[in-house]
Amino acid sequence: MTSRRVLAVAAFVTVGALTGTTTAAPASARPVEDRCLRGGSIPAPAVAAASQRGCSLVGRIVTDGHVSVVVPRTGITVAGEGVGRRGDVRSLRVTNTGTAVVAVSGGGGSGGLEGGGWYLAPPGTTTSTTAPTTSPMTSTTTTTTTSPTVGTPARAGDLPACRDRAFELENHRWTRSLRYRVNLAKMPARFHAKTVVRQVRSANRNMRKGRNTCGKPILDTPAAHYRGRTSKKLNVTRGPGCGRLNTTNVVGFGNLPTTLLGWTCYWYRGGRMVAADIMIDNGRSLSTKVPDNCSNTWDFEGTVTHEWGHAYGLAHTGTRHGNLTMHHLLKPCSTYARTLGLGDWRGMKRLYGVR
Ligand SMILES: [Zn+2]
Repeated sequence: MTSRRVLAVAAFVTVGALTGTTTAAPASARPVEDRCLRGGSIPAPAVAAASQRGCSLVGRIVTDGHVSVVVPRTGITVAGEGVGRRGDVRSLRVTNTGTAVVAVSGGGGSGGLEGGGWYLAPPGTTTSTTAPTTSPMTSTTTTTTTSPTVGTPARAGDLPACRDRAFELENHRWTRSLRYRVNLAKMPARFHAKTVVRQVRSANRNMRKGRNTCGKPILDTPAAHYRGRTSKKLNVTRGPGCGRLNTTNVVGFGNLPTTLLGWTCYWYRGGRMVAADIMIDNGRSLSTKVPDNCSNTWDFEGTVTHEWGHAYGLAHTGTRHGNLTMHHLLKPCSTYARTLGLGDWRGMKRLYGVR
């Protein structure tokens, strides 16, 4: 039996005003520690109320279940999206517009957070949608192969990768080159450093150039530069979550919750990406080489390719697009996610164009 990994998320939660003109009612009589929920993290649904009370939320931690992000300074959006192995995986995004702090959270399979509507919701309202249930975990796909980019195991009912045009975009893209480093401090002992670095770099190229088997041309995404290994920590917190913005982009390992394969945090301003960090789980689920007699193993490079997709501006496709790299569930025992499906490629083309 194999299970699937849930990649990230989406549903909608909270909108709050962070204006100075507070009309705080009875709450204003309470000590600021109470009104602003000082001394603790702020649940996403409480962001609206806290910001309406005139609380400065910059630097505060917003949580949605176990997922958390630190509220960025004015003009910045921070988002974290996961890659799971089974069950639901939450994602969380917080935007500080200067006049409002907006928290958007979601669950696996509900597609992108794209569309822009979420940040236009009136201040003080709370909208939440129930994440659609994910498709049954009954995959019996066990492709045993060792060659790179093996054929995509078909998912019943879903279009083949080169016929599925679906994509969802985030609201940002890189407008300059992306410099990144790799931190191997918490790499599993079974991995080889050179292989990991090679596959992280390959994964970046897969996504950036739009590697595909659909006959589509190379994409014109801004260059990426691998700057070597680093001991600098990921700006990703266990839980998982996203810390304060820094502009060093790091790909590394960490002990993520058992349902997660990976987690990407990214920060953008006015649609321009400014930073991204990717944490890959250092548990037993991933392999840099899909083994013979594979049953419950996921491809490292394919997983990282998916994560780079988030870093470059793609969201999840939503359900029923299970053969695309940006589907929220990754199929085990195959390297198919190293190549983009038609929808993945179209999404990247929309953002960056072709050469
Ligand atoms: Zn994902």
